Amino acid sequence: MSRTKYQPTKRERLVLDMVENPRYDRQIINGLDPFINGTAPDDMRGFYTPQETTQLVNLRGTERDIEARMPVKITRHFFELAKSSTALQKLVKASPDETLNLEGAEDPGNQMDYSPVEGLIHKYEMGLLYVISTCSSHCRFCYREELIARKEVERYDGTVEKKGLAQVAEVCEYIRAHNLAVEANGGRHPETGREKLREILLSGGDPMVLPNNKLAAWFAALAESGVEAIRLGTKEMAFYPDRFDDAFLAMMDRFHEVYPEVGFRLMVHFNHPDEILSKDLSGGYISDEAGFYQWNPRARRAVDAVVSRGWISVENQSPIIRGVNDDSDALRILQRTLKRVGIENHYFFCGRDIVAYRAFNVPIETAWHTLNDSQRGLSGVEAHARLSITHYKGKTEVAAVSDQPVAGLPGAENGVVVFKLLRSAADAPDRGKMCIVGRNPEALWFDDYEDRVLFDEAGLFDYRRVKPVAADFELTALSA
Ligand code: SF4
Repeated sequence: MSRTKYQPTKRERLVLDMVENPRYDRQIINGLDPFINGTAPDDMRGFYTPQETTQLVNLRGTERDIEARMPVKITRHFFELAKSSTALQKLVKASPDETLNLEGAEDPGNQMDYSPVEGLIHKYEMGLLYVISTCSSHCRFCYREELIARKEVERYDGTVEKKGLAQVAEVCEYIRAHNLAVEANGGRHPETGREKLREILLSGGDPMVLPNNKLAAWFAALAESGVEAIRLGTKEMAFYPDRFDDAFLAMMDRFHEVYPEVGFRLMVHFNHPDEILSKDLSGGYISDEAGFYQWNPRARRAVDAVVSRGWISVENQSPIIRGVNDDSDALRILQRTLKRVGIENHYFFCGRDIVAYRAFNVPIETAWHTLNDSQRGLSGVEAHARLSITHYKGKTEVAAVSDQPVAGLPGAENGVVVFKLLRSAADAPDRGKMCIVGRNPEALWFDDYEDRVLFDEAGLFDYRRVKPVAADFELTALSA
């Protein structure tokens, strides 16, 4: 299929015509080979011991091939941080344990059920776009491993294909058509019940790997198609903070000048304070005279540059991953440190049911206790983050875990877990509803509670998959 090129408007051109695209030298090590055959820079070779590389090489070509599950990638900046951090090593270093148990979903949450156009997930009043399938380093626990490793995924209709990337023309045409149908029908889409698509999240992979002109093209086209806010999900502030340089900021400022009505939310991804704080030789965080921990200067420069633009809100979200940040002290420092420089703590997540999730996820109840303990002693504004687990129906808060029996409630002798549906697809009919299950301290995913559901007004354990709705518009921008 050949695609008709998207034609930017005059207003879009006011942004696009001034964009600079510097080249960035992230000094990325791609794959395990450079560590195995000695082509990695001298000082990086020891990142894997000879025993570790031998174990990983022995799995190549087998069902347990580590790189087939998730490609290995690391920037020089992140390597420098990880040298003195076991948590960050766990985040990026491949390990044979990852493929011991390959249980898990190829398309976690059956996201493709909500994809009316390739590369767009339309579940709520917000749409998510896959705009790129890589990042400048790769987290081993990534819940987009199927996209990054370019795996084939089975869809609702039984077809099996790789997930495709979003295209500007198709996506913007879909947004316009959807919003017109919603408006003509008094605020809800006549078939799906969804509201206006107000907000779009650029995701992947990491959109900050794209050059500025590609980012600007997305921003301007989305603004023209009538979205009220753009989000961009990125871990680049941890992997390569210098990407937030003057050329990027000038592009952002120009975009805001031309489209001041469009809000911008930068969703950053810091898992551990080792990604942002300076350490001394003994591994402790360095404090200034006032007792505040000192930031890594490159990360701080990037954060300050973005936060100082008041029209960009900056929010952190992070999964809680075994061996990376299942540590209440680390999470307490992270939340305090981020809030102090103007970054909101938005969500912590329970790991998703990706392929091999048993290698990464901590039990749901442990994650709740870890976050709860980390928020002891934090002020209200520092402790905004909730623990969320992404159910097929929508984002769900792990709201409470009680160790006490609930008198008169059979099945609650060992205490209960309370889930609350924070968002639900379409017109959010179940938002705010609860589900209570008997405790299972080993539970990693919802199915581990199936035999102990006590109350389920949210329908977390009794739901049907939605039938994907075909795009209800003519793809006039495409030609066969
Ligand atoms: S930055 Fe995000 S998308 Fe990229 S590898 Fe890590 S978790 Fe996956």
